[in-house]
Amino acid sequence: MLNLEQDIQYIKGVGPNKAKALQRLGIYTIEDMITHYPREYEDRTKPKKIAELVDGEEAFIQAICVSAVTVIRKKKNMIVYKMAIRDDTGTLVTTWYNQSYIKDKFRIGEGYNFYGKISKKYGAIEMNSPEFEEANKHEITGRIVPMYPSTYNISQNVIRKIIKECLKIIYGKLEETLPEKILEEYKLVDINTAILQIHFPTDFEQYKKARKRLVFEELLQVQIALLSVKYDYTTQKTGISFSKNVKMSDIINSLKFKLTKAQLRVLEEIDRDMESSKPMNRLLQGDVGSGKTIVSIISTYKAVKSGYQVAIMAPTAILASQHLESFKEILEPFEIKCELLVSSITAKKKKELLERLNNGEIDVLIGTHAILEDNVLFKKLGLVVTDEQHRFGVRQRSIIAEKGENPDVMVMTATPIPRTLALILYGDLDISIIDELPPNRQKIDTFAVTKNLEDRVNNFVKKLINEGRQVYIVCPLVEEKEDIEAKAVLELYDKYANQIFSKYRVAYLHGKMKAKEKDSIMQEFKDGNIDILISTTVIEVGVNVPNASIMIVENADRFGLAQLHQLRGRVGRGSNKSYCILKYDGKSKEKMERLKIMTQTNDGFVVAEKDLELRGTGEFFGTKQHGLPEFKIANLFEDVSILKIAQEVAMKIEKDDPKLEKEENIKLKLMAEKKINNRIEL
Ligand code: ADP
Ligand code: MG
Repeated sequence: MLNLEQDIQYIKGVGPNKAKALQRLGIYTIEDMITHYPREYEDRTKPKKIAELVDGEEAFIQAICVSAVTVIRKKKNMIVYKMAIRDDTGTLVTTWYNQSYIKDKFRIGEGYNFYGKISKKYGAIEMNSPEFEEANKHEITGRIVPMYPSTYNISQNVIRKIIKECLKIIYGKLEETLPEKILEEYKLVDINTAILQIHFPTDFEQYKKARKRLVFEELLQVQIALLSVKYDYTTQKTGISFSKNVKMSDIINSLKFKLTKAQLRVLEEIDRDMESSKPMNRLLQGDVGSGKTIVSIISTYKAVKSGYQVAIMAPTAILASQHLESFKEILEPFEIKCELLVSSITAKKKKELLERLNNGEIDVLIGTHAILEDNVLFKKLGLVVTDEQHRFGVRQRSIIAEKGENPDVMVMTATPIPRTLALILYGDLDISIIDELPPNRQKIDTFAVTKNLEDRVNNFVKKLINEGRQVYIVCPLVEEKEDIEAKAVLELYDKYANQIFSKYRVAYLHGKMKAKEKDSIMQEFKDGNIDILISTTVIEVGVNVPNASIMIVENADRFGLAQLHQLRGRVGRGSNKSYCILKYDGKSKEKMERLKIMTQTNDGFVVAEKDLELRGTGEFFGTKQHGLPEFKIANLFEDVSILKIAQEVAMKIEKDDPKLEKEENIKLKLMAEKKINNRIEL
């Protein structure tokens, strides 16, 4: 019987050394190997004649060897091997460097196939380090050749050979993983054909078919996995029906401003969920400044006045304490008690706080991940709000939800996510979108500037400070290492505080400082006692200082666009005209093009869409902590149409067989479980 889990080391031609190299690529078994898909393909189907070769191109030629290999010693460590070859249109010289095995590979007068890069100099044609094989062989020439993700110690040829060996073992024996009905309905090729053709396609038509099937399958698995989480949560469990007699309108009418239509629509959706006995599981999306916080405050009011407690979880201490302020301001007049729990509070205070939480004296607990700890016990938790930043994910959400009995859950994301991605990342949630900003929001004028404009920028900053404004200067993110970042902040601080802006009050903030220190600096800045705050991206999240109206980002090209947009959202929060200045070093046109997008739009969804397009999903989120499953073949930007079909199919299957118990769905169920486990482990 076919064993896909078989150790790759024992496949013909592998052995312990190559197995080690493969492990670096995450390949341990036959299954890993055959799902190590090519990253691209070279079309080596059509041979060219020597006379028609063009300088710089990569070409496949069929030629006869007409000279012995000459060996030329250049420098100490360099030996060059040259050989002349010819076809009926001309002659060229092949060149290899330091590859001694070349010497006795060829016989004069015999025909070979070559593939390599052409260079033409002074009328002579050369082919550099070509790949080659005998004329009658067509393994690396005369066909479409796969190129694999690789590391330095294993060559393309070796990977191709190993995959060929694996295909010999598995081809025709792989069991179909998709239900027959679906294959027929969506005209998908079978699994054996797909795997064979994705590695060694007969032509591009076959390749496309193979890829479509594999992408579809991958996306379907993820969708089914997410739907099953959603199903377990919303249909299998009875949640809380919050009181119909508690009217959101009572608190809405007490606000100093009018809610936008979008906010009202979203609140209606939430109100409906809250009153229903199904547990709410909802994602609240909206651009920076669209007013998500107030939506969570109003929902909190509803929960507390129905007799329940609420937990609000924020990704950083700064943001948590800011939330506390906003919640208190609006909820205290309604006699709702809000408290803060962050890891920096004293043991004594914490003990007392946990007691009051446990006996129900505290209505709303706002905090960081400290809230997740086992000893944080609620009396009657009814609503959980997480401000997610892609940092929490499914697991944390469920840990905190377990502190109540099927409480309602609301997830807020501060970074707008393109809709397709939201479906993948949050497919287990219902989605509400605030697609409108409060009125009179001004556009933040954004400029991308190079070093030679630095003086003008600095003078502009001085002018604005003299008018009473405050400034953020964001330090380039060097690596995700806090001490390196801290050093960069201090260097910048030295430059600005002691030289350029020595007449002004300059302070700095970085991730290595104690929470208390950070909070006090932030407070000073809020109170207007600091003119310029130099900071790492710790200010990225939700910080609200309305008088800060200019932001300068150093080396802005090192940030993702979505992140720049998030940073930019720190200004333009008051009534003053606001600016964002993105500095970059002036050489690269590509950087300029990317930053230009920021100067053209203030719409976070547009920015996110572009960012995803330019950098792909991995980079889009910056780290792997986003909870997004790893995709082996699907590309979320290009494969949107397949994603939509996969989602429809997943919903159909789920509806027809919610527990995936039918014979035809068993395989899908296993695959989906594997996906979801990987995801939750993140
Ligand atoms: P975000 O969606 O980025 O979390 P916030 O909830 O922090 O946005 O809201 C940004 C600011 O806008 C806050 O000061 C908030 O009080 C204010 N705000 C929210 N909704 C409205 C509205 N409908 N009209 C005017 N101001 C609003
Ligand atoms: Mg917010």
